[in-house]
Amino acid sequence: MLVTQNLNNFTKLIPQQVKLVAVSKTKPISDIQEAYDTGQRNFGENRIQEMVNKYEVLPKDIEWHMIGHLQRNKVKYMAHFVSLIHGVDSFKTLKEIDKQAKKHNRIINCLLQARIAKEETKFGLSFNEIENIIASEELRELKNIKIIGLMGMASFTDDTNQIKNEFNGLNTFFQKLKTQNAELKTLSIGMSGDYKIAIENGSNMIRVGSAIFGARNYIA
Ligand SMILES: *Cc1c(COP(=O)(O)O)cnc(C)c1O
Repeated sequence: MLVTQNLNNFTKLIPQQVKLVAVSKTKPISDIQEAYDTGQRNFGENRIQEMVNKYEVLPKDIEWHMIGHLQRNKVKYMAHFVSLIHGVDSFKTLKEIDKQAKKHNRIINCLLQARIAKEETKFGLSFNEIENIIASEELRELKNIKIIGLMGMASFTDDTNQIKNEFNGLNTFFQKLKTQNAELKTLSIGMSGDYKIAIENGSNMIRVGSAIFGARNYIA
């Protein structure tokens, strides 16, 4: 019941053009099923094995989003079903996704992860690296992936002004890239604590976990 209530409240709060990815990492199948029964179809996980386990037992019209840092050697386990991979932060990883997608005769949509947070622990590419990947000749050879946008995570801070600046900087860069590349459509920014700021700064895909499913018991 709680998941249903949270989800209903949540979907009322967000504009229609913003896609909600319900982040179900660490949460049981029963919670995902409840969200599904409420109408939610997009779910995000940060561990490939956990996502595969959930995929196997849940309805097949769910769109699964891989939002975590990718281990290249595990891409093969999700290549037959993953809907969007958010956290791509190297050309090598793109190549591996392409290779695995090809085996299943699919084109896998990807987002490049931009590094916008101040903390050094955050993964991601600089704006310059993103421009280089998108402009590269090698990218044209990868027929089984499609880069459809960018993903970012703001600094873990209470300073809303800093979060706003980080999202705004990414959005400005994204808008510029878009004018050169019509395939770029998705800007995945915003989580439970900062989705409002993200939407004000151009987000059209938010990844929300705890505001829907409640706090996680352990760090994932
Ligand atoms: C866990 C996670 C989220 C969701 O976080 P909440 O604060 O629970 O909404 C979003 N994006 C990524 C990349 C995550 O790992």
